[in-house]
Amino acid sequence: MEPNILVVDDDAAIRDALHEFIMISGFTAYKASSSEEAMEILRNNPVEVVITDIILPGIDGLELTKRIKDTYESTDVIVMTGYSGDYSYEEAITKGASDLVFKPVRFEELMLRLKRVLNERLLTNERTEMMGKLQKLAITDGLTGLYNSRHFYSQVEQEIGRSNRYEHPLALLLLDIDLFKDYNDTFGHLEGDKVLQEIGKIITACLRRMDTAYRYGGEEFTILLPETKAAEAITVAERIRIGISNVKFQPASSKQALITVSIGVTEYIKDEVISEFVQRADKAMYLSKKEGRNRVSPLIGEKEVKQSVLPFTYKTS
Ligand code: GH3
Ligand code: MG
Ligand code: MG
Repeated sequence: MEPNILVVDDDAAIRDALHEFIMISGFTAYKASSSEEAMEILRNNPVEVVITDIILPGIDGLELTKRIKDTYESTDVIVMTGYSGDYSYEEAITKGASDLVFKPVRFEELMLRLKRVLNERLLTNERTEMMGKLQKLAITDGLTGLYNSRHFYSQVEQEIGRSNRYEHPLALLLLDIDLFKDYNDTFGHLEGDKVLQEIGKIITACLRRMDTAYRYGGEEFTILLPETKAAEAITVAERIRIGISNVKFQPASSKQALITVSIGVTEYIKDEVISEFVQRADKAMYLSKKEGRNRVSPLIGEKEVKQSVLPFTYKTS
């Protein structure tokens, strides 16, 4: 789409000539005779570049530049000034202008400066987009699309801070695939990778808005549940466990296979360090392994919560 350009000048002859020249050059152009009128146009239309005179009735072009940059950070401003020396290049740039042209304006020069500003915008946008992608890549696990363990540790730290400050509950699940080595050995690593991807999808589908899932290690996943007590976290864990156990994987054309997972659940204890919190989730997960796999085990403090006191029954087969 062609960029939108707004010309601001109280001199009708200059304003109309510039407006027409910009339109003929293939841009969408607006015109305004004052800063107030320009702000009104900006409120109602997306504008990439404003070309404004400095001396205007009411709010002058430099103040307009400042207001535009304060409100619409990404809109560029090119300032037009006479040779009077009343306003310096520095002053215009300090207010946020991207460039300056001297009056009487030569169309060719204005077009060169406009194109330079538009080119810089393009480069800046590409750079911002690239930075965003890189940042996302740095915290994402390539295979499952979940967050990676590096991001897990930074998020646990944040959530622990919040939990300590506001005394809000925080739960953690740690999930490990059962006998996954056998699956890999039987069907190959590539088929194993498909299982990891599918498990990533199931976990994501079971989570609530605030929850986040991470591929913590090779075949281990963690799930952080802010504002959540253990009892509720157990329900989420059960949903995930059952969801996974219901999937019929097809690792070979004539074979179907089932996958189960062991999950540990724990709740944060005020003022404990990250490692204690995470290790307890790991211990809870090992309880599930020890008791026969394909189950959810909560460990709250050093207390193993007995299944009988929990508000649901475990499926263990
Ligand atoms: P357990 O029920 O005790 O957890 O048994 P297990 O076989 O899952 O445990 P073990 O730790 O012996 O094996 C983990 C396996 O996970 C071994 C490894 O091949 C597999 N694994 C780890 N990362 C990946 C991966 O990225 N892709 C695939 N396909 N397999 C992986
Ligand atoms: Mg493991
Ligand atoms: Mg395992």
